[in-house]
Amino acid sequence: MTATNFSSLFLSAEMLSNLESLGYNEMTPIQAQSLPIILQGQDIIAKAKTGSGKTAAFGIGLLAQLDVKKFAIQSLVLCPTRELADQVAKEIRRIARATHNVKVLTLCGGVSIGPQLGSLEHGAHIIVGTPGRIVDHIEKGSLKLENVKQLVLDEADRMLDMGFADALKVVLDACPSERQTLLFSATYPDEIKKISAHCQKNPQEIHVESVH
Ligand code: ADP
Ligand code: MG
Repeated sequence: MTATNFSSLFLSAEMLSNLESLGYNEMTPIQAQSLPIILQGQDIIAKAKTGSGKTAAFGIGLLAQLDVKKFAIQSLVLCPTRELADQVAKEIRRIARATHNVKVLTLCGGVSIGPQLGSLEHGAHIIVGTPGRIVDHIEKGSLKLENVKQLVLDEADRMLDMGFADALKVVLDACPSERQTLLFSATYPDEIKKISAHCQKNPQEIHVESVH
């Protein structure tokens, strides 16, 4: 049986008490299956339904491995839409409440780029964004990804459906090859298998049917 208690993981006391204060008393099935693997630094390819708690699965994984004292972009999360990126950033900030001074920055299209350039000059630990705008920043030289240790592709199938395959390739090339890559997708078409083969190392496959 997979343990379902967050305290079975190697998480800080601050993280555990914050999760409790959020009402996260038990891990959801996707969290119970993926977090032990994510915390070991391994790649995963995970298939799970909407509402299964994927954001906290990778959010806790990113925060637990973050070096807060090193003020550099260490994690990049790609989402298909601005709305989803905003939700993911909000959830990561909630999970990060107990970890001091974690800076999460969203970079999405549909808003002017100027303020984003200013925010990037101030720096961040974690970037959450949409592929098109992330590529804009890479090409402008305003986003440096050489310190990225974790890359998350959230709703990867939707990103491909929206025509982001080329943008994803640019982002993958701009990230260090020595990194952890976490891929989440509701479906497993051939294109997802191809992306996984291109950007992951021995990914552990996780399939979760139930939501809670
Ligand atoms: P997904 O990305 O899989 O669609 P979300 O990450 O958006 O799902 O999570 C769905 C909801 O479940 C959110 O409201 C989140 O706060 C909540 N949630 C996540 N993990 C837990 C947990 N361990 N216990 C209770 N609620 C949780
Ligand atoms: Mg989600």
